[in-house]
Amino acid sequence: MISKEKKKEYNKKLKELHKIKLSFEESKKKSKEKKRIGTNALGKTPGRLCKYCNEQKHFKEFRELQKGRGWKAQNGSARYPQCLVCERIAAAKRYRLNGIHQKYNGARTNAKKKGVPFEISKEYLIQLLANAPDKCPVFGTKFVINRYTAKNKENKGSFRDDSVSLDRIIPELGYVEGNLVIVSDLANRIKTNATPEQIIKVGEFYKKLLKKK
Ligand SMILES: [Zn+2]
Repeated sequence: MISKEKKKEYNKKLKELHKIKLSFEESKKKSKEKKRIGTNALGKTPGRLCKYCNEQKHFKEFRELQKGRGWKAQNGSARYPQCLVCERIAAAKRYRLNGIHQKYNGARTNAKKKGVPFEISKEYLIQLLANAPDKCPVFGTKFVINRYTAKNKENKGSFRDDSVSLDRIIPELGYVEGNLVIVSDLANRIKTNATPEQIIKVGEFYKKLLKKK
């Protein structure tokens, strides 16, 4: 016969064991979930550690990918392993390393879009860029090749103004030898497809307008 006392003790132990088992299972489930949604050690940020910059980031700071690729974010979307900032820096690096390739392809795409001839070789473009001054021949501002990093996101505008730009002197002639000049992006944007006379007229108009004020 088992005494009442012993039975009580036994039941108590059983209950405790059950509690331990439950808490163990719960913690297991929690850690599994943690892994799945990638919470940080504090369990606060629903994101993950970017292995490239070693920073804990929210999942929205990673580019969304099509399903089946990338890692799964808390809202069920698939995300790129690199954070957006690291992605941009990597793209800028690639651009710096192979800016000619990018410029050449960009010009070819633009020619197709505008329906103008494209008859230059990559070697010609390399020569043109190599022989160009380090300042915009219009404004005298120093060219900036690329200074786009996470830190100077705010300077995006000015970096674009001072960046190297390939201008077709007579737009409709297209990308042919002798019809190209390297100017700053700002100068190129002002010119677009206007003639020198038209550009002067625009300048004079605003000069007058601002004098009246
Ligand atoms: Zn990163």
